[in-house]
Amino acid sequence: MAHGAHGSVLVVNSGSSSIKYQLVDPVGGGAIASGLVERIGESEGLVKHTYAGNTTTRTDAVPDHGAGLRAVLALFDEVGPDLAEAHVVAVGHRVVQGGSVFGSPVIVDDDVVAQIDALAPLAPLHTPPNLTGIQVARELLPDVPHVVVFDTAFFRTLPEAAATYAIDRAVAKAHDVRRYGFHGTSHQYVSGKVARVLGRKLEDLNQIVLHLGNGASASAVRGGVAVETSMGMTPLEGLVMGTRSGDVDPAVLIHLQRNAGMSVDDIDDLLNRRSGLKGLAGENDFRELHKLVEAGDEDAILALDVYVHRLRKYIGAYHAVLGRVDVIVFTAGVGENDDIVRARALEGLEAMGIAVDLERNAGRKKEPTIISPDWASTLVMVVPTNEELAIARQAVATVEAAGYEGTSDESDPAPAAAGHA
Ligand code: ADP
Repeated sequence: MAHGAHGSVLVVNSGSSSIKYQLVDPVGGGAIASGLVERIGESEGLVKHTYAGNTTTRTDAVPDHGAGLRAVLALFDEVGPDLAEAHVVAVGHRVVQGGSVFGSPVIVDDDVVAQIDALAPLAPLHTPPNLTGIQVARELLPDVPHVVVFDTAFFRTLPEAAATYAIDRAVAKAHDVRRYGFHGTSHQYVSGKVARVLGRKLEDLNQIVLHLGNGASASAVRGGVAVETSMGMTPLEGLVMGTRSGDVDPAVLIHLQRNAGMSVDDIDDLLNRRSGLKGLAGENDFRELHKLVEAGDEDAILALDVYVHRLRKYIGAYHAVLGRVDVIVFTAGVGENDDIVRARALEGLEAMGIAVDLERNAGRKKEPTIISPDWASTLVMVVPTNEELAIARQAVATVEAAGYEGTSDESDPAPAAAGHA
């Protein structure tokens, strides 16, 4: 296996009761090993570690994140790969909220930790577990540089007109209320990948990127620079999602508080966990939703209609933002796998030079694929996202720029030939 030759990156994504990790070969792009720790703090934990095609599972209690990461390192020791041999050049941490402070990845030190901590009020559910993961990883792996990659960083370039909410400026400023955008690592990776696959310069391409997973967001990217995105101060704004509402009239919240006796926490729960496809149809997985639609379930039919309608509104809006659109690209669980959503999102737009070829579109896409017909002036593509690889490559670039020993090879291998699949 080639990973020993040029080093690897351990990518860590630490949530409130879970840790997901992947040991990534940043040059070849593959995952050398991967796994997750779940049910941290519960009486029975779950640790799953996959290496060389075998998954090892442990169900001992994992009292806290430190114990979780120690269990992971023990599994690396026991079943491999040997982390010393894998030559870990950096640990890359995903952090959700970088606020107005962080526009690029940074090497962790105590100051950086304090700055991230100060941003916690903007992402109170995500930031504390992100930081806990960073701190325990620094203690357990003290000899490698730790790099933080922010979900918001790609959107630090949003023009003020796109980032500003039209509310009292003093209130907004006092409480850091502005649009930050999320899923940035994915939007950046996918838009860059499009250019490489097409053999075009990123600077020459205007793209609309549709990251449709359980969470979903759209972005407008002009020449590699993000100029608009659908998520706002939090990942709740914008598209209809699995369990999140996306856009609603803010006065709905006032109404529910005044007239339905709902507390702030009730409304938080409503909009984040009891809305979106789940709220409309009782089901947030598209595979199940389509079955309900086929069976004639009216709630499911409406849910799909609302989802597609919102998506089309954003595509139209981003057309106006960009003026000219060269590529529309679908990614993440729904975008990569759901040909029905892709076809419906772009139906009837032939007059705009946009269409989906139903044969090219059919089925799940594991590789970058063009799904528009040859005559269309806008290319429509599916490009699988890979946030772990993107974090690994950014971590390597960051430690190399800081003068650490990094990987010596090209970190961006030639893409597979473009073509109509
Ligand atoms: P997350 O936001 O949790 O990272 P993913 O990007 O993994 O989400 O997307 C998960 C969603 O992708 C599922 O909820 C489901 O709706 C959708 N999905 C996954 N596989 C398929 C499939 N084969 N067909 C249609 N939709 C799929």
